Amino acid sequence: MNRPDLLIIGGGVIGLSIAWQAARRGLQVQLIERGEVGREAAHAAGGMLAPLAEADCDDPFLRLCRQSRSLYREFSTELLGATGIDVEYRTDGTLFLSLKDEDDEELQSRYNWQNEAGIDIELLTATQILAIEPSLNPAVRWGLRFPDDHQVNNRLLIKALHAAALTAGVDISTRTTVLSLLTDRIANRTRISGVETDRGRFTSSQVVLAAGCWSGQIHPRPQVTPVRGQMMAVEMDSPPLQHVIYSSRGYLVPRRDGSLIGGSTTEIVGYDRRNTPAGMASIIANCVEMMPTFARLSLLETWAGLRPRVDDQLPVLGADPAIDGLFHATGQYRNGILLAPLTGQLLVDLITGETPSFDLTAFSPARLNASTVAG
Ligand SMILES: Cc1cc2nc3c(=O)[nH]c(=O)nc-3n(C[C@H](O)[C@H](O)[C@H](O)COP(=O)(O)OP(=O)(O)OC[C@H]3O[C@@H](n4cnc5c(N)ncnc54)[C@H](O)[C@@H]3O)c2cc1C
Repeated sequence: MNRPDLLIIGGGVIGLSIAWQAARRGLQVQLIERGEVGREAAHAAGGMLAPLAEADCDDPFLRLCRQSRSLYREFSTELLGATGIDVEYRTDGTLFLSLKDEDDEELQSRYNWQNEAGIDIELLTATQILAIEPSLNPAVRWGLRFPDDHQVNNRLLIKALHAAALTAGVDISTRTTVLSLLTDRIANRTRISGVETDRGRFTSSQVVLAAGCWSGQIHPRPQVTPVRGQMMAVEMDSPPLQHVIYSSRGYLVPRRDGSLIGGSTTEIVGYDRRNTPAGMASIIANCVEMMPTFARLSLLETWAGLRPRVDDQLPVLGADPAIDGLFHATGQYRNGILLAPLTGQLLVDLITGETPSFDLTAFSPARLNASTVAG
């Protein structure tokens, strides 16, 4: 492709969502991916679209998450229409269990503020929980149901986004590593002009940095920390769980194919993506606490991935304060699958000069004191 309108670094869920939405809005898009698309954090995730089970207050971040979640039905329908791939969007909701005295405070406070804020949340007795999910621990004390927390099969989502992006005309270069950004100095301003890769230069006047936890290796600000999450999947026997199940220590995610994912860990160990016995032991203990039969199910797979996190744990979305034409879309941390539809929409709004449908001030790269360093 000769000088595309937009060059995207990183073929994870964020880069692919931006690429697809930009191409559908008429831009010529080039995406550059170091390995194969969607094999990093996007592949490792649980696919929960569950902002309410983790939120402690109603703030711009929760509103961003809820707006993105509200796009999911249409987003998955459009992907199905474009590719024939059903991404298994499910709206059964999340159950959050109290299993110990110490869990009560967290659940009660979440129920109180969400109820006062007019968010749909239900308080369930142990009997009600076991009636809808008989496989759970009979010692469950009580729990919350979040009907507005949904889920998607993130691996099918990546497959669908990849196919949709190709169909929309996105040029995807895999096995190509971006080494640095290229810039020009024009009238006292620094402007992006492309990227240097291990396969040569690619030029464009607009570049999105969406390389997940590796974004900081390409441009020093914002600094992005990889946070390892280990996962395992077992084969569920019948009846399968209907809801995503949470406790304060772990979660269970049922898939349509009969598998059940147990997660996770939160570890700062650099770019190490290995599974460890300690990680697996903690996941098993936390899943057995929610569902005692978990220990007897057949083990299907173990894996780990790296969540991209910046210091204040908020996403970084918007124009770089020092380099014209450079945009950031990273730091989605625990919610990149959830945030993918809205992130794509907002970034394309910014790139095409339209007013974004969401106030991005709280997520601006400038808040992190972006430097003037140019590659
Ligand atoms: C265990 C676990 C569970 C999770 N569960 C959920 C969940 O239930 N719900 C949810 O919403 N989120 C979840 N997440 C978070 C979510 O997976 C991430 O926020 C999201 O995948 C980040 O997407 P990304 O595209 O920014 O990063 P990635 O998916 O990591 O993609 C970045 C891409 O950039 C490429 N790249 C890196 N460097 C270069 C370079 N120099 N040149 C070219 N390409 C490069 C990489 O190869 C990679 O393909 C989970 C994450 C983990 C690890």
